[in-house]
Amino acid sequence: MTVTLPAPPPRVARLPCNKVGYPIPWFVARINGEPDFRVVGEGKMHGAITFRCCWICGDSLINRTLGAAATQYAYVVGPMCAANRTSPEPPAHRDCAVYAATACPFLTTPGMRRRDANLPEDAAAPDGVMIKRNPGVAVVWVTPGWHMIPGYRLFHLGEPVETLWFAEGRPATRDEALAAIDSGMPILRSEAEQDQDPDMALALLEVQYERALLLVPGGGQ
Ligand SMILES: [Zn+2]
Repeated sequence: MTVTLPAPPPRVARLPCNKVGYPIPWFVARINGEPDFRVVGEGKMHGAITFRCCWICGDSLINRTLGAAATQYAYVVGPMCAANRTSPEPPAHRDCAVYAATACPFLTTPGMRRRDANLPEDAAAPDGVMIKRNPGVAVVWVTPGWHMIPGYRLFHLGEPVETLWFAEGRPATRDEALAAIDSGMPILRSEAEQDQDPDMALALLEVQYERALLLVPGGGQ
């Protein structure tokens, strides 16, 4: 079986492919010689954070002519990250991120569930609240700035210069984007209720929610 995929950008086209034709992203670990797309390879997180390697293609993210100050970072995140502005995964080039959001089977097929079966025992769970449901909507969040949240392996995303919303590998409609956010809010609300200061956490969440609504397609961005 082979798959039909959108045309990859040149940096992704250089990646090796797995047996069914998916390019193997740079971060992917090989388990017993086979790529396992669910597992991050050893040293890849360090390479991404310290050397600014693109999470998808592995090339440097630093703008070659204008330098670090002009570099933009593109995160592929779920819709709830538009609210809480965090990502467990490092950034990519914009075109690599768009390719991942349109070609990755997990991100593009709402019916697909994460496969946790047969994960190696040392596969580290990402920090932060992982919402293990397929939201059906992926967001490419492009920002010039980010920082690691102290004490966590979690990226705080800077103010976006652009957000691109996708559903099933195509641009998401406003209704799809809103539905994806709304369906995740109860999870974040119940998390906020467990906070040491639930009133403050819930109030902050509502601010984040209102801010996220401005980013959905047709929301005034
Ligand atoms: Zn890249």
